[in-house]
Amino acid sequence: MSETAESDQLLVPARMVNEYVYCPRLAYLEWVQGEWSDNLDTIEGRWVHRRVDVPTPRQVPDGSDTPEPAHELTARSVLLSSEVDGLIARVDLLEMSGRLATPVEYKKGAPPDNAARAYDPERVQLAVQAMILRANGYHVERGVLYFAEVKERVDVPIDDALVSLATDAIRGVQAMASSGRCPAPLVDSPKCTRCSLNGICLLDETNLLAGRGDATTVRRLVAPRPVARPLYVQEQGSVVKKVGDTLVVTAPDADPVKVLSKDISAVVLHGNIQVTTQAIRALMEDETPVMFHSFGGWFVGQAGAGIGHRNVSVRMAQHRALGTPLQGRIAAALVAGKVQNQRTLLRRNLPVADHAVTGRLAQLARQSRTVADRDTLLGMEGYAARTYFAAFPALFRERGAWAGAQFRANGRNRRPPLDPVNAVLSFLYSHLVRECTSAALQAGFDPYVGILHEPHHGRASLALDLMEEFRPLVADSVCITLFNQGELEPSAFHARARGVMLTPKGRRVVLAGFERRLEQFIMHPVFGYQVSYRRLFDLQARMLRAVLLAETAAYRPFTTR
Ligand code: SF4
Repeated sequence: MSETAESDQLLVPARMVNEYVYCPRLAYLEWVQGEWSDNLDTIEGRWVHRRVDVPTPRQVPDGSDTPEPAHELTARSVLLSSEVDGLIARVDLLEMSGRLATPVEYKKGAPPDNAARAYDPERVQLAVQAMILRANGYHVERGVLYFAEVKERVDVPIDDALVSLATDAIRGVQAMASSGRCPAPLVDSPKCTRCSLNGICLLDETNLLAGRGDATTVRRLVAPRPVARPLYVQEQGSVVKKVGDTLVVTAPDADPVKVLSKDISAVVLHGNIQVTTQAIRALMEDETPVMFHSFGGWFVGQAGAGIGHRNVSVRMAQHRALGTPLQGRIAAALVAGKVQNQRTLLRRNLPVADHAVTGRLAQLARQSRTVADRDTLLGMEGYAARTYFAAFPALFRERGAWAGAQFRANGRNRRPPLDPVNAVLSFLYSHLVRECTSAALQAGFDPYVGILHEPHHGRASLALDLMEEFRPLVADSVCITLFNQGELEPSAFHARARGVMLTPKGRRVVLAGFERRLEQFIMHPVFGYQVSYRRLFDLQARMLRAVLLAETAAYRPFTTR
């Protein structure tokens, strides 16, 4: 029996038929869109498979060649296919006696308490394996589910009824894949709480925005904030190495810093930092991005996670939207969200309410929602930005008044920033772009193809789109807080030939403030649950993806009151 070549990717895997019977959307996300995410169940499942996933180093004879009767034979992790049926499977354990073959599928846990002592998805998976074995000349009467927790074997007869169930499911998988449309999420299903892809599927959120439920039906199934944190390295001349499960950062004249790899969500490098090849490779294997900023703080790009995401349909949808009314509607929503959040920041923080300014911003936010013409929209955005930044200096009070006064004299400027507030804003915006680039890549987007921001050489235009609604709420808010609380004083800056830069110590203060903000929880106004800002980037990127894939009708920017 020949092992199947890698080129046979269009054969339907038996495991996908299992997933399809469990939930068609799950099969689509995994197989067609190439999505994957672990949870405790999948990690335990891999542990249970750790032995049977190591292939037996012996050739498994073809069923039609085996003389009868033959000696007993078992083989682990056997890859089989049937071109005729369009199927492929990796059988955990194959037990053979002459032409009689029995596929054994390993499962964690214990048998369910039903008549068959097995769930349909697993029974169907065994049936698909049996169909492939039969196509290869074997005789198959039954399969076996081996439940590792209780070390129990459950026989599954491969009868006509089960084969018919499997055949229908295979046809369903094929039709689903060729349709190019992701099935809708299950509604209020208990299956979703244990599904490892629930944070990618965003089932209740998608159902709500597609009109299949109300806000009370949205469960927060994703962790409110990621457990891992970024590792920032900015000491010039540092080296990042991998030693076992640990990343070790050695800086000149300092003790090495060790961090467990599993606790790191990204490695963020500023300027002249070396990363060993072994460390880069290990980080790529862990899907941990390495993100590069220039010494001055500009976000240059990233390596590792998300590059070449397998979900090609998202990138195709992103490109298809360009030049369509959908692009205009999303761009309008992005501008409206940003302007509304600018208004909120001023309304909350101005020492004396300025109804003329906040009223103008409210009006611009309202009007921009319905603007179809791009130039008009950009004109409104520019007018809103001028209105906002004209009022911005008043937000700096007491210990931050000195910085506000300099900003008032210079206005918003960059390249290079001419005063401390502009230096901090530019630095924070570059880190916001980095976070949004990462969120865009994780969602399967091409971060360089923007919707509001036109594609431009070397510019992560979609990341700029995604960050619009967060500029006031994250970057501007952190900037004001750090100055007003006296964490940033004149000594945190130094003058360059042209402009003003943060000192290394000043950068550390700003990054600490930025991280604190990303850890803060905030109530999502549409979904009615609390999440951290860092999780929000991911959530909003995935909701934008749902719009482009026509799963939901309109993009809803994140806004606060
Ligand atoms: S979360 Fe629910 S609807 Fe989404 S893929 Fe998983 S099982 Fe299906």
